[in-house]
Amino acid sequence: MLAKRWQAHLESREAREGHDRFGGDRTIFHEDKRFMARRKQIYEGKAKILFEGPEPGTLIQYFKDDATAFNNQKRAVLEGKGVLNNRISEFVMQGLERVGVPTHFIRRLNMREQLVRHVEIIPLEVVVRNVAAGSIVKRLGLEEGSALPRSVIEFYYKNDALGDPIVSEEHITAFNWASPQEIDDMMSLALRVNDFLAGLFTAVGIKLVDFKIEFGRQYEGDMVRLVVADEISPDSCRLWDIETGDIMDKDRFRKDLGGVTEAYREVARRLGVLRDVEGAGTRGPVLVSDNEK
Ligand code: C5P
Repeated sequence: MLAKRWQAHLESREAREGHDRFGGDRTIFHEDKRFMARRKQIYEGKAKILFEGPEPGTLIQYFKDDATAFNNQKRAVLEGKGVLNNRISEFVMQGLERVGVPTHFIRRLNMREQLVRHVEIIPLEVVVRNVAAGSIVKRLGLEEGSALPRSVIEFYYKNDALGDPIVSEEHITAFNWASPQEIDDMMSLALRVNDFLAGLFTAVGIKLVDFKIEFGRQYEGDMVRLVVADEISPDSCRLWDIETGDIMDKDRFRKDLGGVTEAYREVARRLGVLRDVEGAGTRGPVLVSDNEK
């Protein structure tokens, strides 16, 4: 019964979205809120909400406009960010699937939501760094912007109360967060993601400085495999314009540089993710009137 209602709902939204432009988000958003109140929320994070999916083993990942930094001490609502991250993450996850890196992504449902596989999240943030920036600069006294001798992988324990501390493989295995085999798998998958992302962004004039990914265990009968979960977007990557050095990621928010959604929109535009709407590179989401739809 619930599954049928879901299907009907999704179909009507998809049909509507077919006529909707990028800027139609606000119109949909109010309906989203009404619908969201009726369905089962599994988890609310800082930038996303997870709802029960229409079929067993699925979830709906909803991208909020909320931005947080410094372990939730700095907060803002950046209108349109969720829409952009939904699109960018969809594009990246689909690309990863095409090159054989498994992900939790199934399909995008609408402007702010995607259908994903329900996986058991490994409580680690896996960071890959190509260039020194952010926390490694402070921790190791490196020069910001200097190339690292090779891509460096780091693990952080996902725990807000502790401020996501960096951990070693010893901690990971001793506390049973992941097995030695899973650590190996995460490292080789993280490097494949790095190769894919670095190529993708270089092609559009963007330097991939670093990024964070998360992994989940997907159970299939007796088998378990690791898949890339969560999101990959300018919220979770450091992206610098190759020519100008301009920051095109969440550091704009962390460092109070302004123009956060504009930068995300530019990333989306360069990746070819946004439909060519007039002024997509400069305007925020706009309300589409009924006769435009
Ligand atoms: O802050 P730090 O330099 O360790 O971040 C490394 C990378 O991981 C950055 O791209 C940052 O955006 C990302 N990150 C994240 N979520 C966190 C911590 C870092 O997406 N909780």
